[in-house]
Amino acid sequence: MAYIQFLGAAGTVTGSKHLLNVSGDGTGKSGTQVLIDCGLFQGKKEWRERNWQDVPIAAHEIECLILTHAHLDHCGWIPRLVKQGFRGPIYATPSTIDLCSIILPDSGHLQEEDAAFHNKFKTSKHEPALPLYTLEEAQDCLQYFKPVEFGVVKQVSADVSFRFVHAAHILGSSMAEVTVKAGDGDIRTTRLLFTGDIGRVHDQHTAPGKVVYSGPQSGEAADILVMESTYGNRNHPDSDPRPELSSLIRKTVERGGSVVVPAFAVERTQKFVFMLKELMESGQCPRVPVYCDSPMAIKAVEIFLKHREEYSDATKELVNKYGSPLEWQGFNFAQTAQESKKINDSRFPCIIISSSGMVTGGRIQHHLIQRLPDPRNTVLFIGFQAPGTRGFTVKSGAPEVKIFGQMIPIRAQVAALEQFSDHADTPELLEWLHTFSFKPNITYLVHGEPDASAQLRDAIAKDLGWNVRIAQWMEKVEV
Ligand SMILES: [Zn+2]
Repeated sequence: MAYIQFLGAAGTVTGSKHLLNVSGDGTGKSGTQVLIDCGLFQGKKEWRERNWQDVPIAAHEIECLILTHAHLDHCGWIPRLVKQGFRGPIYATPSTIDLCSIILPDSGHLQEEDAAFHNKFKTSKHEPALPLYTLEEAQDCLQYFKPVEFGVVKQVSADVSFRFVHAAHILGSSMAEVTVKAGDGDIRTTRLLFTGDIGRVHDQHTAPGKVVYSGPQSGEAADILVMESTYGNRNHPDSDPRPELSSLIRKTVERGGSVVVPAFAVERTQKFVFMLKELMESGQCPRVPVYCDSPMAIKAVEIFLKHREEYSDATKELVNKYGSPLEWQGFNFAQTAQESKKINDSRFPCIIISSSGMVTGGRIQHHLIQRLPDPRNTVLFIGFQAPGTRGFTVKSGAPEVKIFGQMIPIRAQVAALEQFSDHADTPELLEWLHTFSFKPNITYLVHGEPDASAQLRDAIAKDLGWNVRIAQWMEKVEV
């Protein structure tokens, strides 16, 4: 008797959390319990409120956590799990661990800032408003991380083992191939594949924003596939984003405005910065000051440069050609809050890159308060915006957006470049599935808005004839 229970990323793109319960006695209580991913719910309030719910089993009974990658919607709930008593190992690739060591404390800091804001302005129904976890609690959970290299089989218990294979989504990102031995008397082996997030299948030519090397891992084999569906209803443009980017910057600067880019602080920001450098060096876009505004800005660059082995040839070439962004003239990395505030004083055209990428928190909020009301400015999105996030509101053409309790009018130009996406689109997902060595017994779609999941389900059924279901929140399915 074994089952998977979908504790998150079912019906939405955030809160990835899947519980695998393998028990020999059929009661489902005393077996091996493994969690795959432990992400934060983001976006709509109804989702975010789920961050306050405990896992349905005692956290200390969970044997281990297998983490696919360092995005908050996959790792951001770890401090909460530890707070509830989880003390097992957190298995992740070495680069994922490096990323988590800056992302989780930053998330704790943001949670504290949020709670402090609500307490100051009495904008929460909770008295006092509490952070989901603190910076200190986030730092404390880093001790449980244990590195597992790609391709190495890790035995978790007598009945569960796993290995990481490349997902080609972001630095360190993996899919988890989990092998389960279960059954009453008659033990059978079942292969599960949890995809985490799946990167773009194509190379630099068709996915010019791609940072990590070509992938995801082809030729996979699984009896049960648990697969993401973020872009289950979308095709990415495959044009070179550079001419459009240059033109956006040039026009904004010509009218005396600045370009504000909400972006994930690590990898996405660095790749974007390298692209800007290249465009400026070749004279394709004007040389204006570039500010990377994040408390982890400098560490993020260091991690980016440390793990070159995972990058695409094009990214490696850029790194070799231009060296460390920390030494470039005109590029500024703001670490402290004071340095960040100084950027607000800049009245000359500049480019500001700041997190969070979906404007769910962080310094980007201050920059948008400052720059959104002025039509000379441009807000440029280079990443996915989940419904319910401020980023989604701004991108979808709303006339105003609520930030820190105030309604901010949106008069700036709003633009988006989809070529930077880290997620495979529908044709790429299907192309990857075609490489499987056999048809899984069943495929569960997770990590997608209902419409995207439904369209991908139909596309897979039509194209490959597979048995596909959309996972429901808290649903248990047999393994
Ligand atoms: Zn991700």
